[in-house]
Amino acid sequence: MLDLNLIAENADAVVANNRRRGVDVDLPRLLLLRDKRSELIQRTETLKHEQKETGAGIPKASPEERQTLIARTGELKKEVAAAAEELTAVEEELREIQALIPNLTHPDAPDGGEHDGRMLREEGEKPNFEFEPLDHVELCEKHGLVDFASAAKTTGAGFYFLAREAVLLELALVRYAIEKATAAGFIPHTTPDLAREEVLRGTGFNPRGEETQIYSVEGTDLSLIATAEITLGGMRAGTTFEPNELPLKLAGVSHCYRTEAGAYGKATRGLYRVHQFTKVELFAFTAADLGASGRMHGEILALEEEIFTGLGIPYRVLDIAAGDLGGPAYRKFDLEAWMPGRDNGSGQKGSWGEVTSCSDCTDYQARRLDVRVKRTDEEGKPAKGTDLVHTLNGTAIAVSRALIALLENNQREDGSIGIPEVLQPYCGFDSIG
Ligand code: AMP
Repeated sequence: MLDLNLIAENADAVVANNRRRGVDVDLPRLLLLRDKRSELIQRTETLKHEQKETGAGIPKASPEERQTLIARTGELKKEVAAAAEELTAVEEELREIQALIPNLTHPDAPDGGEHDGRMLREEGEKPNFEFEPLDHVELCEKHGLVDFASAAKTTGAGFYFLAREAVLLELALVRYAIEKATAAGFIPHTTPDLAREEVLRGTGFNPRGEETQIYSVEGTDLSLIATAEITLGGMRAGTTFEPNELPLKLAGVSHCYRTEAGAYGKATRGLYRVHQFTKVELFAFTAADLGASGRMHGEILALEEEIFTGLGIPYRVLDIAAGDLGGPAYRKFDLEAWMPGRDNGSGQKGSWGEVTSCSDCTDYQARRLDVRVKRTDEEGKPAKGTDLVHTLNGTAIAVSRALIALLENNQREDGSIGIPEVLQPYCGFDSIG
């Protein structure tokens, strides 16, 4: 969430930023509600003061005056209650509009939308097959690795059972990513797969509503998490850190659940866009400045690249365009892996597919989650006040997509699939088939 004063004092810049990010928000209404809120707070104070004064006058008043004063305190009580009710409604609407306003945008983020990310670099060698490569669905069928049909019966389309070596590969990918994250100073956790509504909202997710990608549990304030970014961010809600506790780097293993409303087609075939997958997520709280979060952003991206380089999977890095950042991100980098069997809708096999995403959310999530750090002066000595921390998140491994890249890049002409060396100690085999 952006700061209300910042919005009011930089309304033109906020409108321009919204436009750049393709978001339409009724800013005049927000500013009107802000004024209305101040007016109501003022009015409530005045009424309460009058109520107190009137009440204090009753014991000293004459019998006739007393009746008038008693009647007046009754009226004032009703007026205070009415103003409080109006204030609650104004604050609710104000919060709703405020939450729709996206974060500010890094000046270097490219303009445009989903297809306008700037390619920063390409790493690794694409395999040069002398045979027609299979896609991951065909490979999984051949080796009995995934059972979509049974999952369709038990749970519905978009779910799957992993089977045989795929189960061990999932565990190996998680273990590999956790080892890498831990070595880089991220404290490993397994997180709950559900979170409260206020935690979802705090991290910028909309739990109930038309646009949501979130499954909510009826009759509770719980939702299934779309990513452990939600639970890892929520872990420290309401915390005020000592400056020396930052940066705090966390890694979280969880299942992720997404309704994926409206997603369909060849490019989402098989494991590419599913309703449930396992993921190791990276999360960091840093000092309250763009330098600190910018450095951490680079660190998380470097770790993601190290993970995919270790797996021997070719990838490219994209600087995501302003219109595709989502609400909380100030800047976002994605890795796209080469998937030799994947037809992205062009009719040709072989395309890039997103495998990781890392975002610098500056203080956007911290404001709503109320995560702060004690202030220090230029010499690092304790100073008065606190600042909102910056938060960042990134994918260490999203298993279903990593599996696609792994199976498709390592297939051999005889139909077998080689396993990257880094996974072999964890899964215990060097090839499938
Ligand atoms: P996001 O949190 O949306 O940035 O997603 C993080 C990563 O999770 C993506 O880079 C993908 O690798 C993976 N992912 C996202 N949505 C899905 C999905 N519906 N099915 C499988 N993997 C997904």
